[in-house]
Amino acid sequence: MVSPAFFPETIGTGHRHGETRFFGERPVSTQGFSLEPSAKPTAESVLASILENPGFGRYFTDHMAHIRWTEADGWHGHQVRPYGPLTLDPAASVLHYAQEIFEGIKAYRHADGSVWTFRPEKNAARFRTSARRLALPELSDEDFLGAIKALVTQDRTWVPTPASEAEESSLYLRPFMIASEAFLGVRPSKEVDFYVIASPVAAYFKGGVKPVSIWLSSNYKRASPGGTGAAKCGGNYAASLLAQKEAAEHGCDQVAFLDAVENTWIEELGGMNLFFVTKDGRLVTPRLTGTILEGVTRDSLLTLAKEEGLTPEERPISIDEWRDGVASGEITEVFACGTAAVITPIGKLVSENGTIEHPEGNQVAARLRKRLLDIQYGRAEDTHGWLTRLA
Ligand SMILES: *Cc1c(COP(=O)(O)O)cnc(C)c1O
Repeated sequence: MVSPAFFPETIGTGHRHGETRFFGERPVSTQGFSLEPSAKPTAESVLASILENPGFGRYFTDHMAHIRWTEADGWHGHQVRPYGPLTLDPAASVLHYAQEIFEGIKAYRHADGSVWTFRPEKNAARFRTSARRLALPELSDEDFLGAIKALVTQDRTWVPTPASEAEESSLYLRPFMIASEAFLGVRPSKEVDFYVIASPVAAYFKGGVKPVSIWLSSNYKRASPGGTGAAKCGGNYAASLLAQKEAAEHGCDQVAFLDAVENTWIEELGGMNLFFVTKDGRLVTPRLTGTILEGVTRDSLLTLAKEEGLTPEERPISIDEWRDGVASGEITEVFACGTAAVITPIGKLVSENGTIEHPEGNQVAARLRKRLLDIQYGRAEDTHGWLTRLA
């Protein structure tokens, strides 16, 4: 028998912590992460009402995962601990020089109650690529996935159970890495912290899958050759916010960016990749040139396209091809994709040169969307081995 004193997380909370193992006198959650359980876990009734209407990124689970890195000791201190504010020195370099990267990935509850995630090895690899570009230390795939597993195991009651196929609820996971050394000189930080936080979410765009309107930015660029466009870093998002504001001022939901050199080639939205469907059944997306973020959803759709009888094509697409193609009927659908919003059809393109209305229907987008969600929620066979069980 182990004395209850060694299992503080079981005292008085009536909470069960799934796979808590016992190493010496320290409670250890899965994957070798030590566990400091929350002293005030969310009450069941409060959690139930949050899960009923979670919105997107408004509520966070009771815990977070943390791993620290120092130049001297490497990655260490793997821990799941209560969710809460970080203590950061005001001189921490992330606050001044934006040495920061992040990821976005979801955990899906299947009908039998098990919890799965989708192609996490792709996110882990991209996180390493982003780390290299931002001169941050690389985190191993094992630690990346281990942190996600440890957190989701601990907070598994926070993974929503979709009431129907139409309800796309999931637990959104946000791994991120920040430069935390207190030092105002300009060089890569010698102290870095990695965290994973989790937020129960419903569909990204409120009101179901209705087409969004896109503003074509002519004043701003998202990425340029040699820049950070292919890295998932907060700085790219900070730089896109004013363009997004401009989009909103023109009554649009999202902003699309052209390439920085020729101001001609379609790149992507602020946080989603773009696809074009042609009337002869091609599924076309801009080729990766180093200024486009390599989306996991993008890659998955290029694979699924073939199974849906479409011909995937990665190549440059000009803004003229978009305009003329929609006008002539050559392009039948345009849609955006990403983990958060899955697939979102585009209803119109607005720019300083006027508005182009897209045809209604968006049947290919709807078909691909259903195919992807069916795999993610375990309603269709995972023939590509894309799912990893978390809890
Ligand atoms: C995250 C992101 C995407 C979508 O990537 P997914 O892996 O499909 O979620 C697309 N563009 C940008 C700029 C992004 O940050």
